[in-house]
Amino acid sequence: MIGAGWAGLAAALELAERADVCLFEAGRAPGGRARRLGHGDSRLDNGQHILIGAYAECLRLMRKAGADPERLLLRQPMQWRREGGLSMRCPALPAPLHLLFGLLAARGLSWRAKWQLARALQHLKRAGYRLAEDCSVDAWLEAQRQGEEAWREFWRPLVLSALNTPTANASMRVLAAVLRDSLGAERAASDLLLPRVDLSALFPEPACDWLGRRGATLRFGRRVETLASRDGRAWVDGEAFDAAILATAPYHAVALLDDAALRKQAAGYRYWPICTVYLQYAKPLALPAAMCAVSGGAADWLFDRGALTGETGLLAAVLSAPAPERLADVDALAARVAADVARLRPDLPPPLSRRAIVERRATFASEQGLARPTAKTSLQCVYLAGDWVCPDYPATLEGAVRSGVSAAAAVMQDLRIEQ
Ligand SMILES: Cc1cc2nc3c(=O)[nH]c(=O)nc-3n(C[C@H](O)[C@H](O)[C@H](O)COP(=O)(O)OP(=O)(O)OC[C@H]3O[C@@H](n4cnc5c(N)ncnc54)[C@H](O)[C@@H]3O)c2cc1C
Repeated sequence: MIGAGWAGLAAALELAERADVCLFEAGRAPGGRARRLGHGDSRLDNGQHILIGAYAECLRLMRKAGADPERLLLRQPMQWRREGGLSMRCPALPAPLHLLFGLLAARGLSWRAKWQLARALQHLKRAGYRLAEDCSVDAWLEAQRQGEEAWREFWRPLVLSALNTPTANASMRVLAAVLRDSLGAERAASDLLLPRVDLSALFPEPACDWLGRRGATLRFGRRVETLASRDGRAWVDGEAFDAAILATAPYHAVALLDDAALRKQAAGYRYWPICTVYLQYAKPLALPAAMCAVSGGAADWLFDRGALTGETGLLAAVLSAPAPERLADVDALAARVAADVARLRPDLPPPLSRRAIVERRATFASEQGLARPTAKTSLQCVYLAGDWVCPDYPATLEGAVRSGVSAAAAVMQDLRIEQ
């Protein structure tokens, strides 16, 4: 296994009971793009993450690793709290009534916009969440006659948080797949699952503990330099294995894999950053909800880490797919986030400290018509995993985990290991 992000760990968990697993990770700790940074008091996640009830494979493998989702994730019915804009909460009714009643009772949205939203979602449902041809989200919204208000308050924040890609280029097919598995499925699938612990404690560390107990070899701080297929075996830095799963981001995979077709495919991938601004206050934040936003504010979403993880007074503000100019002056950005917080909690004193973490290639852009590779490569015994390999999902934890599960299944099938 090359790469101990969520994809590589998922593949390792699937294989370790049936085969000897050796895991190579360039970094000193597992988790890849979803992990804790720093030590002691200066520990922060590399970026605030959210999961949803539809992340079935993430939840299954968390349980397998002994990380109890009920304890480690705060489960909330699908809700939307945008101060000065759309606020809604889906009641505990069976799907799709939960969404219908949630929309009907929503505040901060005109009846006209509510009707437009309900009509578009119903259209998608009737089509089985399938599109004959992919198009951009904006093109689809225009065809569905969605007005500016529905775009600003619902579609734009939804697409940015789910796909981390601006609506002008985002793939409607990928968005439809996310909606199919969340709003289009049973009610619990659209629940928000907010981490109550840091990202490393959520899955990567329990997964590594579990792997260690099953005798897997974990090699951290080991960047693999060469990967080849010869004599029916996979060679990792000159060491022979029955199979190798390359579970890295595309730009790292093509550096290792001598595969012209894959290189061409990976060249079609573009990336968007995510910026998380952390503000530390002296007092508990007590925001209107653990996850909320200010309509038209500097950040897409604000997270009250005190309410979630017990980090009293800590705010995490997320900016998805920000244009480069928005990141030019992160101090000014942090000041604007603080001004938004002051609108929600005018009684709070200014923050004591601020820190912005910018992940430059946080996710691939889920653009229309993006071709995905499969788990099997052109090299015998070498397989691919990683969020970008999952067929119809955006760059997410669930996409990463699903890809790892698929790669492990392909290995077991080819090596005739009983599943
Ligand atoms: C700031 C931020 C916020 C996000 N928010 C969300 C969210 O709210 N919800 C959600 O579902 N998803 C979110 N995502 C996306 C999610 O984190 C990723 O899709 C997922 O973590 C990708 O996992 P992966 O295993 O495919 O890849 P990675 O995490 O990139 O793992 C690849 C691993 O391979 C290692 N590696 C690379 N080259 C080598 C080599 N040569 N030898 C050995 N090891 C190597 C790397 O060090 C890395 O650990 C977010 C991402 C970021 C960055």
